[in-house]
Amino acid sequence: MQEALTYDDILLTPRYSEILPADANLDTKFSRNVPLKTPIVSSPMDTVTEHRMAIAIALEGGLGIIHKNLTPEQQAQEVLLVKRFENGFIIDPITISSEATIDEIHQIEQDKGYKKIPVVDEAGVLVGIMTEFYYSWPHDQGKIVKNVMKPASELTVAAEGISLSEANTLIRKEKLSVLCVVGEDRRLKSIVTRKDIEKNKKYPNANKTTDKRLFVGAAIGVGKDALKRAELLAKAGVDVIVVDTAHGHSKGVMDMVKTLKNNPLTKNVDVVAGNVATENAVKDLIDAGADGVKIGIGPGSICTTRVVAGIGVPQITAILEGVKGKGENKDIAIIADGGIKLSGDITKALAMGAQCVMLGGLLAGAEESPGETLFIGGRMFKSYRGMGSLSAMEKGSKDRYGQEDVKDTQKFVPEGIEGRTAYRGPIDKTLYQLIGGLRAGMGYLGAATIEKLALRAKPVKITAAGYIESHPHDVIITEDAPNYRRK
Ligand code: 5GP
Repeated sequence: MQEALTYDDILLTPRYSEILPADANLDTKFSRNVPLKTPIVSSPMDTVTEHRMAIAIALEGGLGIIHKNLTPEQQAQEVLLVKRFENGFIIDPITISSEATIDEIHQIEQDKGYKKIPVVDEAGVLVGIMTEFYYSWPHDQGKIVKNVMKPASELTVAAEGISLSEANTLIRKEKLSVLCVVGEDRRLKSIVTRKDIEKNKKYPNANKTTDKRLFVGAAIGVGKDALKRAELLAKAGVDVIVVDTAHGHSKGVMDMVKTLKNNPLTKNVDVVAGNVATENAVKDLIDAGADGVKIGIGPGSICTTRVVAGIGVPQITAILEGVKGKGENKDIAIIADGGIKLSGDITKALAMGAQCVMLGGLLAGAEESPGETLFIGGRMFKSYRGMGSLSAMEKGSKDRYGQEDVKDTQKFVPEGIEGRTAYRGPIDKTLYQLIGGLRAGMGYLGAATIEKLALRAKPVKITAAGYIESHPHDVIITEDAPNYRRK
């Protein structure tokens, strides 16, 4: 029987180096035509990637894949929000109806911290604005918004298409705290706030297309609505469609890849397919037309496939299989999906020949992931669940696990769990540490590029004693490091 290894079973031996971590070049790709400036991609999971995460990660040079536990229309809208993103503009501001009460404004302020809230009618037309100047708490408590707001007729608004620097000038000149940007039909398109301008950050590493839009991907399944979903996503401008299933080496997935590649609306969009863990599966998916293949059967932190079904391949061996299957197809990307716990695992995945990694659990605690922050025992958490968990399957992801036709939720056989993960704040800090660890690894190996990392890597298999030696030991950790967690 073949032996199979995972991240904790190996280490990379150091080599003579003239490369400093800061000089390492992280350019790579997610699929044939979708480049990355940072080899990190966020998972299509409903507790990980919607537009906020996709925007935040693309701004740092990576890529977000929008999950599919949404209607096709909602998912396409999420893609549009990423595509329409312009640094400094808030493209999906929280709005309120003119019939709402001041209580509701107060609730938004409490939940989200926003004090400037545009007022719109049912069609999304701007009718006024509420800022802290127009209400005070608790005095105005029961009042209706339309009786206290500043009406649109008295507002300085900007027309869609205004540049950020023009918006800045207007805000300064008119002494505005918020500028609403409207379309020709007076519908609200975005807002620019003085506060955001003051803390405006530059993103020199943003992952953008030639027309200066952020790259974004979205997941589909192989179920009944998959093709319609893919067409809507393509119309919204998605750069890559991920056929995301638990068993990618299957007729349904290969047929879907072929269909997408032959469909007039989707044939120009890259297709990534998965998940698989063997050389033959990768070969077959490439033959079917895939531009990238996702590797990982059961390594995920929320995943129970290996113990429920008895199926899987430890991730280092699975990546090596994938790289063998890719062979000389240099344009195709191998994506190491799941099981990454610490930044060193990213170095190991890329050293085995993967072009990038996909992360769920390490990003689910970010401010930008979907879902509210939970306070438990004085600590902050966010929820994180497998797409094969009972509750996620109820929301729609059952087709990922071949259970589309199961109607009775009691009959689901889950392959994932639901949990929570520590809140980690804005994602740029997490990415900084993950990338910092990878850069350090490239420095140790003398690898100037990700391609060289794979060429120069000399892995060694370690024992249980080596594993214990690798982690902090014989000491009580008194301060958490930003890049190391105790189990
Ligand atoms: P993590 O980064 O948390 O270790 O793994 C995330 C990956 O696990 C996802 O990108 C996806 O491929 C996989 N995944 C997500 N949900 C489930 C699930 O419920 N069951 C299984 N088997 N895999 C899952």
